[in-house]
Amino acid sequence: MTITEAFEASFAGAVDELAFAYREVPFYGPHLDAAGVRPAQVRSPADFRRVPATTKADYRRNFPAGVLVRGTKLADEFVFRSRSSGTTGERLVTLAHTFTLAERQLRTTAVHPGMLAVFAGAREQRVCRYAPPACSDVECATPFTTPETRTLPDGTLVLPVAHDLLATGPELVGQAIRELTEHRPHWLYADPAHLAFLLDAMRERGLPPPEAAGVVLAYNLATGAALRRIRDHLPAGTVVVEVASMSELGWLGMTCPDGFLHLNTESFYLELLRYGTDHPAGPGELAELYATSIGDQLSPHIRYRTGDGYVLLEGTCRCGNAAPRVVHHGRCADYLEVAGEVVLTPRILDELVGPAEWLTFYKLTHRESGPLLLRYVPVPGTAHREHAATLAAAIGDRTGREVAVSAVDYIESERSGKLFGCVRAVHSGESGVPV
Ligand SMILES: [Zn+2]
Repeated sequence: MTITEAFEASFAGAVDELAFAYREVPFYGPHLDAAGVRPAQVRSPADFRRVPATTKADYRRNFPAGVLVRGTKLADEFVFRSRSSGTTGERLVTLAHTFTLAERQLRTTAVHPGMLAVFAGAREQRVCRYAPPACSDVECATPFTTPETRTLPDGTLVLPVAHDLLATGPELVGQAIRELTEHRPHWLYADPAHLAFLLDAMRERGLPPPEAAGVVLAYNLATGAALRRIRDHLPAGTVVVEVASMSELGWLGMTCPDGFLHLNTESFYLELLRYGTDHPAGPGELAELYATSIGDQLSPHIRYRTGDGYVLLEGTCRCGNAAPRVVHHGRCADYLEVAGEVVLTPRILDELVGPAEWLTFYKLTHRESGPLLLRYVPVPGTAHREHAATLAAAIGDRTGREVAVSAVDYIESERSGKLFGCVRAVHSGESGVPV
C-alpha cells in the first residue's frame, strides 16, 4: 500500500459522512450550501477539498443542537462529554459516543502491540491521569479535593496538580505521589511535561518510580528533555507511547515501537495540507492536519482543522505497519515566520535543544519584533550557561533573530494549563512573560 492509498482507504467513508452530516446535522446544510457544494457531486479527494473546512468556532457557536445529529441529545446513554483546554481561547464542549472513542483508541493502538497488550491485560482498566486540570474537567488544583471527586465516569483517577504546573506546591505534589502509589494504575495517561515534573519530584524524594505497565503521553508535544527524564526514571520495560489526540476527536495517531508517529487513517479521513495553503502536502513539507470522522452517529466532524502541524515521512516503517508516518510539529499558531517563511516550529526548536541533560523545562517566547526570549530551568551542577549560549546561537542562526537567554527557576504555563516550549505572544502579557 502506498502512502496515498493509506490516506484514501477511508475516502469512501468520508463521502458517506459528508452526505450524512449534510442531511442530519443542522449546521452542515447551510455550511455546504453557502459554498455551493452538493455532497452528491463530491467524488474525488480534489472535490472533497472544496468542502469548506470547519473550526472550533463553528462547533462552539452551534453547540449543542446545531452540531448534533437530529434526534440525539446530550443526556443520551453512552454520550461522553469532554472539554478542550481552551488553548486558543474559550473552551469547547464536545460530545462523542464512548464506543466510538474506544474504537478509535483501539485502532490507533494497532501500531503498538506492546501497548495493546497493556490495555488487554488491564481487566478493570485502573488508570491514573496527570495533566492540566482544564483538560480533565475536574477540580483538582487545591489540596482539599478527594480522589472520589476526581474520579471520572470511566474510573480514571485524575491526580491533583496546580493549574500552573511549576507552581504546584510540595503538599499537592506529595498528595499526587501518594495517590499514584496507592492506586497502582495499569497505565498512566499524562501530559509529558507533567509526568516529567512528577517523576523528578519522586526521584528528589528518594521514592521508587510508579510501576504502571504503560504510559500514554498526550495533550502536548513531548520534548526531548521530558522524554529523557520519563525514560530514565521509569522501570525498564515500561511501554511508553506518544499519542496525537484532540478532545474533539479522540486518538488520531500513536508512536510505534520504533518511535515513529503513525496516523490512524481508518477511523478518520485525514488530509495534510501544505501549511498556509489548501494544496495537499507531499513528504517533507510542513502541513496542517484536517480530520474527517468516519461513522460518527452523534457529532460528525467534516474537514475539521486541528491547528496542528505535521510533516509526512516517506517510505515504510521498520515496524511493518503501513499506516502513514508523520512528525508532529506542534501548534501552527506558535510557528515563527520570517518574511512569510516558517523558520521555527516547536518541533524544530526541540530538535535544536535535544535531550539536554542540562535543563528540565524551557520556553522560547517570540513576538512580532524584538529579541526571542529563551528561558530555561537549569539542572544544578551542569555547565548549563555554556550549553544555553550554544543553543541561543543555533536559534539565532536558524531564525536570523536576536535571542535573549536566561536561567530561571520557574516558567509559567499557558492559560490552558499546558506548558509549551515555543510560544508566539500575540499581544503583550499574552503568555504571562514578565515585562
Ligand atoms: Zn512504525
